[in-house]
Amino acid sequence: MTHTSPCPCGSTLSYADCCAPLHLGQKIADTAEQLMRSRYCAFVFQHVEYIVATTAPFQQPLLDTQAISDWAKQTNWAGLEVVNHLAKLGKRHAQVEFKAYFHSTTGKDAHHELSTFVNIPSGRINRWYFLDPTVVMSVTQKQPCLCGSGEKYKRCCGQFLA
Ligand code: ZN
Ligand code: ZN
Repeated sequence: MTHTSPCPCGSTLSYADCCAPLHLGQKIADTAEQLMRSRYCAFVFQHVEYIVATTAPFQQPLLDTQAISDWAKQTNWAGLEVVNHLAKLGKRHAQVEFKAYFHSTTGKDAHHELSTFVNIPSGRINRWYFLDPTVVMSVTQKQPCLCGSGEKYKRCCGQFLA
């Protein structure tokens, strides 16, 4: 794998022109889809720091980085297909439906998922972050949302986190 090889995220660009600037912190993702692609790519390269940094800030301390790292390593990734990008889901959320392919003992298999992303102000700009539904949050539905939107949790990110 060199920087001129096609990017593992399935775009037609080279890694250097696609996910590398995001992984290196030179650029931020413009859309939830771009963030999702760069996160898949980070799993391929076992770039755990990037996976953590692109998860909602209020979930980051709760992530099991060892489990993320083990999973990225154990999986023999075989490509990504973005099925659908719902770019606007209310004011600050978006969803991306995708199939992340991997080689299995029986051939090729896919994790078919619908991921939710939240757009949060970070300094003078807004950034997209992944909302991890596997992270157990101790928030009550009436509490202000942890993303800082000022809305109640149940009306904001709580809709997408069980
Ligand atoms: Zn890419
Ligand atoms: Zn929220």
